[in-house]
Amino acid sequence: MSTATVIKPFLRLSGLGPLVIRPETNFVNVGERTNVTGSKKFARLIKEGNYEEALSVARQQVENGAQVLDVNMDDALLDGVQAMTTFLNLLQSEPDIARIPIMIDSSKFEIIEAGLKCVQGKCIVNSISMKEGEAKFIEQATICQAYGAAVIVMAFDEKGQADTKERKIEICHRAYKILTEQVGFDPQDIIFDPNIFAVATGLEEHNNYGVDFIEATREIMRLMPLTKVSGGVSNLSFSFRGNDHVREAMHSVFLFHAIKAGMGMGIVNAGQLVVYDEIEPELRNLCEDVILNRNNDNNQATEKLIAFAETVKAKGKEEKKDDAWRHTSVEERIKHALVNGITEYIDVDTEEARVKYSKPLEVIEGPLMAGMNVVGDLFGAGKMFLPQVVKSARVMKKSVAWLTPYIEAEKQEASNAPTILLATVKGDVHDIGKNIVGVVLGCNGYNIIDLGVMVPTDKILDTAQKENVDIIGLSGLITPSLDEMVNVAHEMKRRGMKQPLLIGGATTSRMHTAVKIAPEYNEGVVHVLDASRSVTVAGSLLSKEQKTDFLDTIKTEYTTLAEDFFNRRTVKEYIPLETARTQKTAINWNEFQPSTPQFTGIKQFKSVPIAELRPYIDWTPFFIAWELHGKYPAILADGVVGKEATKLFNDANALLDTVIKENWLDATGVIGFWEANSNGADTVVVKDGAKKVNLEFLRQQIKKAAGQPNLSLADFICPESEGKKDHIGAFSVTIHGIDAPIKKFEAAHDDYNKIMLQALADRLAEAFAEYLHAQVRTKWWGYVKEEKLSNEELIKEKYVGIRPAPGYPACPDHTEKYKLFDLLGGEATTNIQLTESLAMYPASSVCGWYFSHPQSQYFGVGKIQQDQLNDYTVRKESTTEIMTKWLRPILE
Ligand code: SAH
Repeated sequence: MSTATVIKPFLRLSGLGPLVIRPETNFVNVGERTNVTGSKKFARLIKEGNYEEALSVARQQVENGAQVLDVNMDDALLDGVQAMTTFLNLLQSEPDIARIPIMIDSSKFEIIEAGLKCVQGKCIVNSISMKEGEAKFIEQATICQAYGAAVIVMAFDEKGQADTKERKIEICHRAYKILTEQVGFDPQDIIFDPNIFAVATGLEEHNNYGVDFIEATREIMRLMPLTKVSGGVSNLSFSFRGNDHVREAMHSVFLFHAIKAGMGMGIVNAGQLVVYDEIEPELRNLCEDVILNRNNDNNQATEKLIAFAETVKAKGKEEKKDDAWRHTSVEERIKHALVNGITEYIDVDTEEARVKYSKPLEVIEGPLMAGMNVVGDLFGAGKMFLPQVVKSARVMKKSVAWLTPYIEAEKQEASNAPTILLATVKGDVHDIGKNIVGVVLGCNGYNIIDLGVMVPTDKILDTAQKENVDIIGLSGLITPSLDEMVNVAHEMKRRGMKQPLLIGGATTSRMHTAVKIAPEYNEGVVHVLDASRSVTVAGSLLSKEQKTDFLDTIKTEYTTLAEDFFNRRTVKEYIPLETARTQKTAINWNEFQPSTPQFTGIKQFKSVPIAELRPYIDWTPFFIAWELHGKYPAILADGVVGKEATKLFNDANALLDTVIKENWLDATGVIGFWEANSNGADTVVVKDGAKKVNLEFLRQQIKKAAGQPNLSLADFICPESEGKKDHIGAFSVTIHGIDAPIKKFEAAHDDYNKIMLQALADRLAEAFAEYLHAQVRTKWWGYVKEEKLSNEELIKEKYVGIRPAPGYPACPDHTEKYKLFDLLGGEATTNIQLTESLAMYPASSVCGWYFSHPQSQYFGVGKIQQDQLNDYTVRKESTTEIMTKWLRPILE
């Protein structure tokens, strides 16, 4: 017995043959080309069902020295389970490939499990994580263990993907404990992937990603020596895609350092790794600076590497394009271009089709429509996402633009497709959503008349009648637009119109449509949730067979909604304003020492560099604007939309680069502080020099549980009676300059970049507000001197104080914006115009009040009672009629 061999705790994998990874084993290369997200060629072969040739990609990887083969089928257009099963089953019968172990790679566990059912040796699962909590993690790990697989654990927890060294170590260590102590995993079967992220993206916060990975690796290997560290290396050089020469050098340099720190394996293109020592010294040094984040203040190292990369490109080492599709028929080519959003050849192909067909219109009705139908189907089936559709539209518009002169020359009637009129209502300036709906409907064969923003009712309805449109669609973002839509519906009835009315935009809702708009007009009012729904709704409304049924269903649904609404209303209990005022937020003013700002009055921030605002961008709403749902940055790795989200994100950043380099946009902001005290009730008296301005706030009147306050923002400013001098602040920020580039994009039929720029300008305005608020807290008002918050924490509003915006739930009265803008110096300093509905123009503008008290918080005023409306009307020296117009949405 004493001579029995002890099996050493090494990672032991197998295909047909064994792969034992001992301490002295060199770095293990995992072949990456059999990955549909990483290799266009492999993706195409799998999509075409050409598994024979797909196997040859795997064979090449083995021949090039891959020791493990990564297989990934995560593509929205593929049935991943089926593709994984088919490919692995075929692969198992190819001894020259199947001799090496497989790494089953997917972000969907069902695909992983399908893979586990096919492989015979000991494979690696890539990956599991604590993304969805410990219970799920344990469940998945247990399944992997049952199949005898080793696992890669991604450094991802409930809070998101680990980016810093500390988070990487913390998550890996936590996962290790769970796996070894609760699941019973052998430590040597655990491989960590502490996330290799792209460096040299231009964002300073990304510059340390290489170092974070390398240093985390060192610590992980020290803490848990039997485990391994792995990673997907090509992510690192993502900003240099298209430039393989630079990418390969970056990978080699990175691996050189990461391996020294203990990285034992990695997913790489086995055929493409260059030898560290053979990289030309200049490039090697530049890569080293970027990866190790040396000499990189203000992105210097990044800039230098980019400059170097340009010279390489100029030498003609460009990526070879996958252009097999160029050899197909003209119809196929047009379809391919549409589905893939490729504009490059569309003029040539359109011309070829024009010559081939007897009439130019036939090209539109034939191949173009056929291609767009495919796009529509894929979008409808959730296999294509909005950004892709908008790119398809760009291709279509370019093609139509090519044909238009010929169509006009032949005096052919433009197509007799149904026409949909779209407009953002009077007083509102927001139109991203409307533009998107227009593009999507346009893609589905409708003629679109887009009247733009701030369109008065008469203009909308006159045009609709003159052009005899089939449907009218209204859009709006701010609350006063809701009322405006009610007006339009009312006027349509008065005019005896027949067209159905679509309602869309951020503040609109099915409930509001059912309760307030639909009763005004009998010919059909339908709330449309998002662009993807607009197609089905328009289709049903324009189909003779479906229209009546469809409208009947909607009517029943809306009637029920409205009844629920009125029934529910009676359930809520409200209290008189006077009682509510006795239940203010409990603040111990004795203990509060108000801070004095560095100045009173205003301070302007002119032309703040966009590059300074960029790091403050909150990207999640950007993806929402594009109807991609998920939190940034996790969305980039999402199993369903991750690939498109990543493309969109890269396109956005490329456009931002240009915006910054060519100075397209101007960011101007104003902040101000004034002495202020509350009157003990709902008014804040502001001293603006010799002038006094009363800010009027509303108070919650809903009956609260005992001890819960009835809030008003005025509660957060020290009452006069306390004898302490307090302050209030205000700000506005705006982004100018999108009009000219937008015109250019429109002229180039480029909706994709038009919408992109609008969305970016909105993001920059919000980022600007965040940036100024941070400075206000730490410097200008300085009520917190030390604040170290990451962008993520800023987005989560982890700071002290708030910046509520007039028109939002805590201060829903938009007309207080007049006072805010007056205090800030009006249009002369803010550079913002207020429309009659109190929307801000340019649309990418943000304003708000600053409150410093640590107990200040956001809330919703909710419904108010007639007693408060009367009191408020007196305080604002306004008539009830004007007040109800503005407060109608919240008057009970
Ligand atoms: N990070 C987000 C920030 C905008 S939304 C972005 O980039 O889009 C959050 C802002 O809306 C707050 O800063 C505040 O100005 C406003 N806000 C949110 N809830 C509010 C409420 N209940 N009352 C008043 N303003 C509110």
